[in-house]
Order: sequence, then structure tokens, then C-alpha cells
Amino acid sequence: MKAEVLSIGSELTTGQNLDTNSQWLSRRLAEVGIPVGFHTTVADDLADNIQCFRIACGRADLVVATGGLGPTLDDLTREALAAVAGVGLVEDAASLEHIRALFAARGRVMPDRNRVQALFPAGAEPLPNPVGTAPGIWMNVGRAAVVAMPGVPSEMFRMFGEQVLPRLAAAGLGGGVFIQRKINTFGWGESQVEQKLADLTRRDHVPEVGITASDAVISLRILARAATLDEALAQVAPVEQTIRGRLGDLVFGAEDEELQDVVVRLLKEKGRSLAAAESITGGLVAHRVCLVPGASDVFCGGVVAYTDEAKARELGVPRELLDRFGAVSEPVARAMAEGVRAKFGVDLAISTTGFAGPGGGTAADPVGTAYVARADATGTEVTRFGWLGTRAEVMSRTAKLALNTARLRLLAAR
Ligand code: AMP
Ligand code: MG
Repeated sequence: MKAEVLSIGSELTTGQNLDTNSQWLSRRLAEVGIPVGFHTTVADDLADNIQCFRIACGRADLVVATGGLGPTLDDLTREALAAVAGVGLVEDAASLEHIRALFAARGRVMPDRNRVQALFPAGAEPLPNPVGTAPGIWMNVGRAAVVAMPGVPSEMFRMFGEQVLPRLAAAGLGGGVFIQRKINTFGWGESQVEQKLADLTRRDHVPEVGITASDAVISLRILARAATLDEALAQVAPVEQTIRGRLGDLVFGAEDEELQDVVVRLLKEKGRSLAAAESITGGLVAHRVCLVPGASDVFCGGVVAYTDEAKARELGVPRELLDRFGAVSEPVARAMAEGVRAKFGVDLAISTTGFAGPGGGTAADPVGTAYVARADATGTEVTRFGWLGTRAEVMSRTAKLALNTARLRLLAAR
């Protein structure tokens, strides 16, 4: 069983609009146990539409199309489907009446052009559209079930829920449940994480385990399909345990949990306070911490000290260290964390300094080099890392690195 999602519209292929229908539909289909094997996007061109429908009907059991059902000359889905099925177009009286009524309700006469929206490939089933003039189409082409819906997302959402889902169930397509569990890690690269889990990420493993990297966070996604929710949960639980067991404290959270969420939670649990001294991250660490509701219970504040002068004046970083090692260095990161810890009188302090690029850097510390420090009553530790990426990416990842060092220190704290 495999589905294909077909998005139709030149506004999509030109890059003017983003095809969000495919994402939405793929998620909904997955929820009812229908895996999507293909996404196709095609411009408003009849020959290309016909070709795409032919290919889709040849390789998928279910084809879900959106777009091209409007009244204008570039709306070609009806014609393309009739051509692929080898049938003519016939008018549906009830659909025509509905379109007329929609216009009448707004005190207007239906333009002639809208009449084409009541045309359907012979043998197809019209799908009512209570919120728009374009009805949908349900039909079979060869062994494939085909559904075409309006491109306007709000109309499509409603039609999918009210008309398509019941028909999928009645046609015996899909069934069962599908659940996903996302486990988030920070500290290793994608391939390192994969090496630890090679037996789980194998293509044929049940449940499926996938790895995705997003801005230095490596996430593992466990996807389970089963007849019942209990069976699906029973597939996920042992795999999650194995992953957590093998990766240890690289795992920081699940689902949408972010590093700052965990840091704030741990600070509360351990009764500690936090402050940040930021150079390269320009306030990003403080910003992220403050995004967490209740951060004010544990986060006292921070200093953005961008110039050497500011680092010396606001954080008490000795001039001698700045002159001798430079602002991007282990001793300066250390002094920044200790300085902000003393200034705010907090338990735990973190600092960031580095070269965000694109200019700057030294032979020893090229663009992308960051030093982050954490200081508390047990001492100060500095971590150095070399990022690849744009200025914004280096800044964002360094902020995460700093938050992660705080997390690790808090985990170890009693
Ligand atoms: P159509 O049904 O082709 O007349 O599309 C009407 C409008 O729906 C378009 O102008 C887009 O704004 C929107 N739309 C069409 N297809 C998509 C899609 N795949 N994703 C998001 N919006 C879409
Ligand atoms: Mg269109």
C-alpha cells in the first residue's frame, strides 16, 4: 500500500507559493496508516498533468491531488483525469445547483465560466465542497483510487475530513494506527549517533527508526504502525529504552522539548540560579532561556559584552588576558563566566565567545570556532567547538552548546 500526493499549480512550481498541502496531507494519511511514497508537484499544463496522473496511477494505490479545480482556463485537473481514464466530462446537476446557490447567497449571478466546476469525468463521484465553488472528485483509474481536492487549504482540510477519510475507510485503504516518538540529542554528529544505533536504523527494522539533523540537534524518530494503539506503543517503548540506554546524556528530551526547556526545568528541580555572559551569541542564550515560561524563577539575567572594552568593564575580564590570548580564547571564556557569576551572584553561569564569520578568525581558531564556559561552585570548565555554517547558524549552535553545557552540569549536580 502506497500513496502519492500530487500538488498542481504553477504558483507552486515557480516558487511563488510553498506547497504546504503535501505536508499536511502526508501527516493525515500517515495517521490513518497510509504511507506516502511520492510527492509530485506539477505546473498548470495539461500534457504534464496527464503524464503525472498516469505515472501516479501506475505506481500508487491511492493518488491524492490538490489544485486545478478552479473555474479558470489554467484549472486542468478535471480534463487531465478524464483523459487519463479515457472518458468524457459530464455535468453533475447537484454540483451545478450548489455553485449557483453559493453565488445567489452573496447576491450574485453565477458567471458562465463557473459552470465547468460542475463537470466530472464520467463515472466519477463528486465530493461536495460546503465552503467553496470547487467540488472534489473521487474516482478509480486502473487499480488506483484517485481523489482530487481544491488547492485552497481551508477547503481541502474540510473536504479531506468530511468526504475523503470516510471513503478511504470504506475502500479498505489504510487502517490501524501510526504513532511517532521523537527523541532529541545534542553533542554528537548524525553519523556518530547512527553508528551507535546501526541495528535500529536498518531499513527493515520494526519499528522504523530514522535520524534527522536540525541546527545541531540530532533527533531520532521512532515510527510504529500496528493494528491497535497498544501494539504500536509496545513497539516504541523498548526501542526508546534502547536508544536512551546507548546514548546516555546525549539525549536531552523528547518531542518538541528544547535545550532551554530542560535547563530551566533542571534549575528549578535543583534549586539553582543562572546567568549568562554572551559575546558571539549576542543575547541568544538569554533570549532562549526567557522563552521558557517561568524562567524568571531561575534566570537572573545576563550581559552581552561584544567588545574587549565591554568584557573588561562589565565582566571584569582582565585586560592582560584579552591582550595576550584574544577575546576568542579559553581563558577569556572562563573569565567571562566567572565574571558574570560574581556580578549576578548566581549558582551557575555560562559564557560564549567565538568567531561567527564570515570574516575574522585566526589560523588556530578559524571562523566557526566557539568557546563556551560554565562556572559554578565546583569550578569552571571550558568547551571548544568548531562549527561549519553561516553566521546565524554558528551563533545559534553556539547558544545551544552553552545551554547544553549548563544542562550537563546540572545533571551532575546533587
Ligand atoms: P486552485 O485550487 O488550483 O485554484 O488553488 C487555489 C489556491 O490554493 C492557490 O492559489 C494557492 O494559494 C492555494 N494552493 C493550491 N495548491 C496549494 C498547495 N499545494 N499548498 C498550499 N496552497 C495551495
Ligand atoms: Mg491553481
